[in-house]
Amino acid sequence: MKTIVKILAASFVAGSALSAVTVMAQDYPNQPVTIVVPFSAGGPTDTVTRLVAAAMSEDLGQQVVVQNVGGAGGTLGAGQVAAAANDGYTLLLHHIGMSTAPALYASLPYDPMTDFAPIGLVTEVPMTIVARKDFEPASLEDLIAHVKANGEDVTYANAGIGAASQLCGMLFMNALDTKMTEVPYQGTGPAMTDLLGGQIDMMCDQTTNTTSQILAGEIKAYAVTTPERIAVLPEVPTMAEGGVENFELAIWHGLYAPAGTDQAIIDRLSASLQKALADETVGNSFAELGTYPVPASQATPAALAQKLEGQTALWAAVIADAGIAAQ
Ligand code: ASP
Repeated sequence: MKTIVKILAASFVAGSALSAVTVMAQDYPNQPVTIVVPFSAGGPTDTVTRLVAAAMSEDLGQQVVVQNVGGAGGTLGAGQVAAAANDGYTLLLHHIGMSTAPALYASLPYDPMTDFAPIGLVTEVPMTIVARKDFEPASLEDLIAHVKANGEDVTYANAGIGAASQLCGMLFMNALDTKMTEVPYQGTGPAMTDLLGGQIDMMCDQTTNTTSQILAGEIKAYAVTTPERIAVLPEVPTMAEGGVENFELAIWHGLYAPAGTDQAIIDRLSASLQKALADETVGNSFAELGTYPVPASQATPAALAQKLEGQTALWAAVIADAGIAAQ
């Protein structure tokens, strides 16, 4: 008898817990949602996130607040979200670094594949190789010769190990078989300030952080990392045009929740992301920054999960091939 009572009591508790989750999902969101950007304010990830967050706020009927948690190439912010409550109120917008960090960090405090619930892809952004306005080299060919001749006398800004800027610099140094002095920042927003001020020589960063400065003539641009030149920067050659073959890099971004978030909440967020990416203002702002929103079919949990898995395998092989050891 006692056993039956216990079983009944246990199933009653399980039943009410289940319905509490269902009610929570139906009611979602009933308070502001935070998207953690794992880099400083004013940088490219921040810019993309703020545009998407504003459109999602309208759709969700709740404020979508952006919180910048920069440091350690994006791994601090990602780690914070991995450990956050899986109630749909703390999300992460991160880029390609989700797939490179496992190969670059000997002990990463989270597993990108199992500690997150993917919501959807957001955008793919070309990179640009840029330098302070008065940096001597006039073309990509000159830049290559200059970096080879001056090595560690050349300073190169990045956003820490695992950042897109660090990945691009690593590939560039590898292609040239030389080393520059890398200067880490919490994001490439502050790095751009130093590039504009002439305190640092070079950077490779996304068009979402470099286009307006290039067009204003405030920094020098040597190359884009796409196979073709891009519409907003028609004067800037591709890496291949400058003689560097097989150097193509597009920085993909995704939106994630902590693992275990209720599927109804993930679906609600994915629908909201798709709506935000179809928004004309978002599309126009992305285009002005040299990028584009992904189509709705890519702003889905399945598409992001597939991208993360494929890219993690690809970058692990590239990084191993380049002889770069995890730190
Ligand atoms: N996108 C930059 C990077 O990974 C960081 C940032 O968004 O500030 O280099």
